[in-house]
Amino acid sequence: MGRAFVYVILGGGVAAGYAALEFAKRGVSPGELCIISEEPVAPYERPALSKGYLLPEVPARLPSFHTCVGANEERLTPKWYKEHGIELVLGTRVKSADVKRKTLLTATGETISYKILIIATGARALRLEEFGVTGSDAENVCYLRDLADANRLVDVMQSCTGGNAVVIGGGYIGMECAASLVINKINVTMVFPEAQFMARLFTPKIASFYEQYYVSKGVKFVKGTVLSSFEIDSNKKVTAVILRDGSRLPADMVVVGIGIRPNTTLFEGQLTLEKGGIKANGRLQASYESVYAVGDVATFPVKLIRENRRLEHVDSARKSARHAVAAIMDPEKTGEFDYLPFFYSRVFALSWQFYGDNVGEVIHFGDFTGGKFGAYWVHKGHLVGSFLEGGTKEEYETIAKATRLQPVIDDLAMLETQGLGFALAV
Ligand code: FAD
Ligand code: NDP
Repeated sequence: MGRAFVYVILGGGVAAGYAALEFAKRGVSPGELCIISEEPVAPYERPALSKGYLLPEVPARLPSFHTCVGANEERLTPKWYKEHGIELVLGTRVKSADVKRKTLLTATGETISYKILIIATGARALRLEEFGVTGSDAENVCYLRDLADANRLVDVMQSCTGGNAVVIGGGYIGMECAASLVINKINVTMVFPEAQFMARLFTPKIASFYEQYYVSKGVKFVKGTVLSSFEIDSNKKVTAVILRDGSRLPADMVVVGIGIRPNTTLFEGQLTLEKGGIKANGRLQASYESVYAVGDVATFPVKLIRENRRLEHVDSARKSARHAVAAIMDPEKTGEFDYLPFFYSRVFALSWQFYGDNVGEVIHFGDFTGGKFGAYWVHKGHLVGSFLEGGTKEEYETIAKATRLQPVIDDLAMLETQGLGFALAV
């Protein structure tokens, strides 16, 4: 049993949705393109799962957040794929791939062949078991990567109103889920190994602002330690979390956000890997000519930083996917991907954006007592990164533009005094 396509996108997440839009814009013919996804629904904007999806009132639900609404583009419903002759093979896991033969074998036993493959398999959430802690399959322990996880989290949350949640991990999932839990009237304790949350991006001063804000919302922090075990009752529910420092936190539910691993397994030994991802060039082409890699799973050259990076953010997934399709459909007119890294988050009434790279010296500016504030990173005499909390659309565009230009900075004191004004004047 088998089917053949010109283009196959493996994975049906954010990158797949934006790649499909780009294929359609560039005129793919009906029957040429197929998307294979383990998820049972058409591509959607994954960031909604830790934000609008978890709201207690008028929560976001599909079909409202199918790609590509997150970039103010068309919303690609299953009907859209049908109208464009794009085959959606949903609820189907690919269990092996043969890049030389250009075939994929699905768990249902079908062989799908292609001329060009775009790998958009994203990543999976790391599990506590991988750190030697057992019990995370208990009913009230939640991870968050896909729609099924989000539905489970909503169910568990609804049964815990007024109760206690322990959030494990101080990264993006921890920060956003903690806020959503508070909004759902659940008491939250966050536990993470570092001295501050968002340690990989936030400076201690930035983290301290958000932590104080969280404390004002009733969130408690247990820093510098990790979970060692769960207390589980006869109903297979966690009742308490035991930490490595010996303390015990009663829990009605647990949310775990301890990082991800890119889904590269199908291609190990067949394609070159780097920094945990599938190595791609400036056209997002992997080490085998007919294969491209985009989104969370791809490690590609970030020209501006002069380094190969694997980025785990939605803007990178959207733009790398579109660039790969441009490179495939119009190779003559498509140059090297020239990407400015962009990360953002929204929690409670707060909202921040970051552009570029967070290396070098940091200059903070603005009002850290609850107003608008930010930071610049200066490396080898150039502005390389910018962070802004509470900016307007125009201000965010301004810091993005300034960061891309990497202006020379020879007076750090001046940069501090000018603050946001510096970016406005670049
Ligand atoms: P994914 O969107 O993860 O899609 C991968 C797809 O491949 C999935 O459909 C998966 O089922 C499928 N797949 C994998 N293996 C197989 C297989 N063998 N067979 C078939 N299908 C397979 N980023 C931001 O910048 N801002 C945010 O606010 C933000 N919020 C987020 C909130 C949550 C809850 C999560 C989980 C992530 C968030 N991110 C955010 C990160 C962002 O969503 C990812 O960077 C983005 O989804 C990556 O897109 P992708 O297409 O590479 O991977
Ligand atoms: P992150 O990598 O952001 O954070 C993981 C956190 O868990 C870190 O604080 C990490 O510490 C900590 N940690 C690691 N191991 C353990 C452990 N054994 N016990 C306790 N804590 C541990 O991953 P997330 O899980 O938060 O997010 C998953 C993915 O989703 C990421 O790709 C992220 O980009 C994406 N996402 C993005 C959002 C956004 O951009 N707004 C929102 C939500 C998700 P350490 O640093 O020391 O390893």
